[in-house]
Amino acid sequence: MINPKLPVIWYGGDYYPEQWDEETFERDIRMFKEAGINVVTLGVFSWSLIQPDENTYDFSFFEKVMDRLYKEGIYVCLATPTSAPPHWMTQKYPEILLTDVNGVKREKGGRQNFCPNSEKYRYFARNIAEKLAEHFKDHPALVLWHVNNEYLNYCYCDICRGKFQNWLKEKYGTLDELNRRWNTRFWSQTFTAWEEIPVPTTRSVLFWRKDRYQSVLPELYLDYRRFMTQSMLECFLEEYRAIKKHTPDIPVTTNLIAATFKEWNYFEWAKHMDVAAWDNYPGYREDFSVISLRHSLIRGLKEGQPFVLMEQSPSQACWRWYNPQKRPGEMRLWCYHGLAHGAETLMFFQLRQSRGGVEKFHGAVITHVDSTKTRVFQEVKRVGEEIKSLSDILDTRVVSQTALLFDWESWWAMEDTLTPNIDFRHLDEVQKYFKALVKTGLGADVVGKDQDFKKYRLLVAPALYIVGKDLAQKLKDYVSDGGVLVLTTMSGIVDEDNQVVLGGYPGYLRDLVGGYVEEIDALPPEEKNEILMFGRSYECSLVFDYIKTTTAEVLGRFRKDYYANEPAVLRNNYGKGWVYYVGSSVSFDLVWDLVKFIEKEHGLRADITPADGVEVVKKVKGEKTFYFLFNHSGERRTVDLPEGKFKDMLTGALYEKRVEMPPLDVLILLKE
Ligand SMILES: [Zn+2]
Repeated sequence: MINPKLPVIWYGGDYYPEQWDEETFERDIRMFKEAGINVVTLGVFSWSLIQPDENTYDFSFFEKVMDRLYKEGIYVCLATPTSAPPHWMTQKYPEILLTDVNGVKREKGGRQNFCPNSEKYRYFARNIAEKLAEHFKDHPALVLWHVNNEYLNYCYCDICRGKFQNWLKEKYGTLDELNRRWNTRFWSQTFTAWEEIPVPTTRSVLFWRKDRYQSVLPELYLDYRRFMTQSMLECFLEEYRAIKKHTPDIPVTTNLIAATFKEWNYFEWAKHMDVAAWDNYPGYREDFSVISLRHSLIRGLKEGQPFVLMEQSPSQACWRWYNPQKRPGEMRLWCYHGLAHGAETLMFFQLRQSRGGVEKFHGAVITHVDSTKTRVFQEVKRVGEEIKSLSDILDTRVVSQTALLFDWESWWAMEDTLTPNIDFRHLDEVQKYFKALVKTGLGADVVGKDQDFKKYRLLVAPALYIVGKDLAQKLKDYVSDGGVLVLTTMSGIVDEDNQVVLGGYPGYLRDLVGGYVEEIDALPPEEKNEILMFGRSYECSLVFDYIKTTTAEVLGRFRKDYYANEPAVLRNNYGKGWVYYVGSSVSFDLVWDLVKFIEKEHGLRADITPADGVEVVKKVKGEKTFYFLFNHSGERRTVDLPEGKFKDMLTGALYEKRVEMPPLDVLILLKE
């Protein structure tokens, strides 16, 4: 439960009463109540209102708003305003402003335009957070702190450069050690003074290549990403500590942007957040498993604890090139999908649509029509009514037999340098394998490399590019104790210093795999090869491992080119467990058939086998077992149920043996 003070599913979202007059505010309260809204987020971009100059603070507006909301039974998630520093501040203290990847210093900007290492910014952020906490610490409406909003940008200014150099001194001790571990003799990159070390901009060691920046000094860039993650996290912690002094019992979080967001290693962030929180904006026609991956990653950050779904649009976004409306029923489905995957709040951005500003077209519960009769409002109201009777699902936990190992550092290191194929992307591989896990109905978690793997029967680690000795040992222990591990091409290539492990890929994992990769061939995406396996042929592309086996059995072989008939997919027995290795970027068909093969070979069984396009999420609480079923397929589907009777918590209907699901249907089945 997010906060026992409000032991229901939280329903509401971002609200900006500062943009509206009092009469509108009063009308909004009536509409909120009609929609079943019980929490509103206030103050996200309020800095210039609550601190109009350096020495003036005025919380009277929000105090009045909070009093009024509380009187109506509506609670408050209170935000610190530090995402958008006011103009007076950046005018007087330009050091606060961010310098971008091209080395250009911002003059002004909307939001996320600050340098995370500016002491001035940190002072103002810490100060306003503390003032807010001090002022509202006893307010009965307060249930959650929302620090900043969608931390977004790296900074590359002189302050950051100085702090980066100090961070490197701390990490490496001496320049000799840094030069050795960065292998700086390559291209004569040896540093002779700490001051010579640049921040990675397009004026120094970055260059643009196809769709991203890459670095001529990938070791530096990897360390800069680690340093920036820590720098921005420290900004969060400045506010966190200031707030906790006054409200130790109110949870503090920040709404993480996009879950699979490349810039920040969220596993590091989650260690310091009371509860994980994120903003979910599914893309148009995006496969449901991608949304499941994002939710599961957020859930995995704090090892299965419930999280806050801080933002979603009730209808459409406005910041994409094309912003389709959520089709009738779609918003409802994504709400329950979030709850299934571990959210205990359903919050919208936003409650009332703005008249002005850059996001005036962003969808809202109360649209520009300003009425409760709109389709969107009526759909929001329906969900609001339904969830009133669902408090029983609070504190349930997802049960998964499989997990995907997700590693930001592997994502960074592999894509930030020149690899055999620029189109071989970390996230593409991750999404493909996770989709197969989701489709099995076995349940799929996402774990970080510091977490416990042993509770899973099957662990999948696609494109795990960085594998040092410790992680290799952990994976070996997992397998030798009986785990089943799937590894792929472009894994174990480098250690934590971004240096290749010699002896053939995948480095320290060679004996787990039972072979080694001697060469990686790479071809343009349109030039495919095929793999013969399980008596059929599967397409593969981009990278092709030329493999020599030692102890592994060969499951699949390439069909063409100079490695025709050479191994492509391996299986190796290691201790009590098994390792599968896929030596190419393969079609989803192959991944799916391999996972089904593993399921059969190793006796994994889903309680409910999902029909095509149907997703099943199993959750438990004490003796109770809940199955959340979603029909994402766009067509009618029949799902076979296990032994016993099941009650749908949404309708009260009882089901046995099987259930019919129309498109976009949701069932929450409680085993009787
Ligand atoms: Zn900076």
